Amino acid sequence: MNSQDFRPAMQRHLIIGTGVAAISAAEAIRSVDERGSIDFVGADSHGYYSRPGLAYFLTGELDEKQLFPYRPEDYKQLRARFHRGTVTRILRAEKVLEMNTGARLAYDRLLIATGSSAIRLNVPGASLAGVYKLDHLEDARRLLARAKQVRSAVVTGGGITALELAEGLAARGVQVNFIIRNERYWPTVLDEIESRIVAERLRAENIRVHFQSDVAEILGKNGQVAGVRLTNGRQIPAGLVAYAIGIAPRAELAREAGLACERGILVNERMETSQPDVFAAGDVAQVYDPLADRHILDSLWTPAREQGQAAGWNMAGRPRAYLKSVPFNVTRLAGLTTTIIGAVGTGGQEDLIGIARGDSETWRQIPNAIIAQGGFDVNHLRLMVGENFILGAIVMGDQKLSAPLQAIIRDQVDITAIRAQLLAPQAAIADILARFWADTHQRQRFTPMQ
Ligand SMILES: Cc1cc2nc3c(=O)[nH]c(=O)nc-3n(C[C@H](O)[C@H](O)[C@H](O)COP(=O)(O)OP(=O)(O)OC[C@H]3O[C@@H](n4cnc5c(N)ncnc54)[C@H](O)[C@@H]3O)c2cc1C
Repeated sequence: MNSQDFRPAMQRHLIIGTGVAAISAAEAIRSVDERGSIDFVGADSHGYYSRPGLAYFLTGELDEKQLFPYRPEDYKQLRARFHRGTVTRILRAEKVLEMNTGARLAYDRLLIATGSSAIRLNVPGASLAGVYKLDHLEDARRLLARAKQVRSAVVTGGGITALELAEGLAARGVQVNFIIRNERYWPTVLDEIESRIVAERLRAENIRVHFQSDVAEILGKNGQVAGVRLTNGRQIPAGLVAYAIGIAPRAELAREAGLACERGILVNERMETSQPDVFAAGDVAQVYDPLADRHILDSLWTPAREQGQAAGWNMAGRPRAYLKSVPFNVTRLAGLTTTIIGAVGTGGQEDLIGIARGDSETWRQIPNAIIAQGGFDVNHLRLMVGENFILGAIVMGDQKLSAPLQAIIRDQVDITAIRAQLLAPQAAIADILARFWADTHQRQRFTPMQ
């Protein structure tokens, strides 16, 4: 008997989805398991691409080729098989998947990385030709084709994707009416000043913003969109309607297979579902967060990548916990780079003191800055200050403080020494922070090794 006889049986890893969670899981599996097989089943004919990049594709800042992060040699390294089609059923007891093509695929370890999809607009006329959501590359392609044929559009929704739709269409020369249900833009995350900055910039881009408005009906002519009627009775003509009113995890397969689900598929810190050998990661997974002591959805690119990686390691037999990092989202709001870090929302954070300030001089001169961008006409910083730590921040415009703030918030750097200064009326909070960061760095650099 030679030593090879003791090697564990070759594992069959099966992954549903070809998004970022799926691909990073496969990378992790391959980094641990040289011999096991990896099979993907994916319903999107374009495979793996950047969904955040779709916004820049709409404005014309990225062309289609730039949306694809993987090159042929990257796929080769995975040594995986791809099956185009939709999984229709998971047969748990048999450890088999059924596909719409009639194919059946067996697995030892299964990853469900089916992502989330846009919630459909549910008003009369929503199925007329010329009504769009933005979920996939195919949606973006159709939207752009239509944008070439129309002069005006209505966009509705209250978050980042709706804003991206409005800006994308405006960048293509379409006159946009942007319908927002709330009294201001994104009130669950932005404060009043930040919302106002965004609204003013949208108006400067020639986008007509209608707050406290709602679409009651999409009007049609010969099966095509002709405009909308708002709940206040007003009618707005338009050749295209685009909406982004929220997302929902694609958890139906898991639910039908009897896996424990709330809004998403419930997983523990190792990304395991309630069923042995079945894992979930990315937008579809609702991950146990030991700090919050509950399962949470985290529908962003970086968490999807990190969760996929953790799932892959665990599937390949290398135990690894996924530790949710401090939320960190870099986005662009009305052309303004905006970083949102940690706890900044308006819900249930009465114990935090929020302070916000505008421009700063020192802030621009700090050499330790990691991201350097120029040419911003607006600079705005908001901090959520707790007893000893900074718990959240919003950085709009100049991003020099965003990386230091991420470290200060993530590492729970004690800010007691500067807290009173930060909270003083009219304090130059960016300057105080910038100096604090430079000093902290200096100390770290010169602290002798223990
Ligand atoms: C327009 C837009 C802008 C965004 N902007 C940002 C941003 O600025 N920053 C950020 O952090 N995040 C952003 N996101 C969110 C980010 O893209 C997602 O969090 C991330 O893509 C989730 O990755 P995932 O792998 O979980 O799912 P997905 O990327 O959605 O992949 C899921 C895959 O599963 C496949 N699938 C689903 N069901 C089945 C089935 N039954 N059978 C076979 N295959 C199936 C799908 O076809 C797809 O390939 C944006 C998303 C969109 C749509």
